[in-house]
Amino acid sequence: MPGGSGRSSGRRVRILDSTAMILGFTESLGGRLITSGKILEESKYGGAEYRALASREGRMVEIMNPDQEYVEEVRRLAAEAGEKELSEADISILALALQLLKEKYEVSIITSDYSIQNLASLLGVEVEPILHRGIKKVIIWATYCGICGWSGDKRPREPCPVCGHPLKRRPMKKP
Ligand SMILES: [Zn+2]
Repeated sequence: MPGGSGRSSGRRVRILDSTAMILGFTESLGGRLITSGKILEESKYGGAEYRALASREGRMVEIMNPDQEYVEEVRRLAAEAGEKELSEADISILALALQLLKEKYEVSIITSDYSIQNLASLLGVEVEPILHRGIKKVIIWATYCGICGWSGDKRPREPCPVCGHPLKRRPMKKP
């Protein structure tokens, strides 16, 4: 993406998914950092535990929840796209991205999740992938973590390298 020169940096927002929250992916990024309440629940950083993380990173992550109309819009689009892997938390950050985009913010989602990336591209929302470099074309199976969203080159049922839960496997869709 070209630099967006001339726009106020106050309009730049980055939305963190649960993996970005768990990894503390908040350093060295400009703009406001935002996540949703549902992502916090999913990343198990509710309440005091979460605030400890935020202060350790030295930056605050704002918590915003999308308006219901945007949640409905994302649900509708997900159904149309046949995207069934999205959790309520995933939908909440996609809806938030859509809402902030319509409010003329410069929005990107920081995620490693394939389904989030896929739907974000349909919504016209920029994605900054972590762990992965975008969507891979030829992988038939993807191993992923249902808890933190990690995915990568491991066998199903091995412990997740991020959070230790047993990994799952799912077929990759062809983009
Ligand atoms: Zn995990």
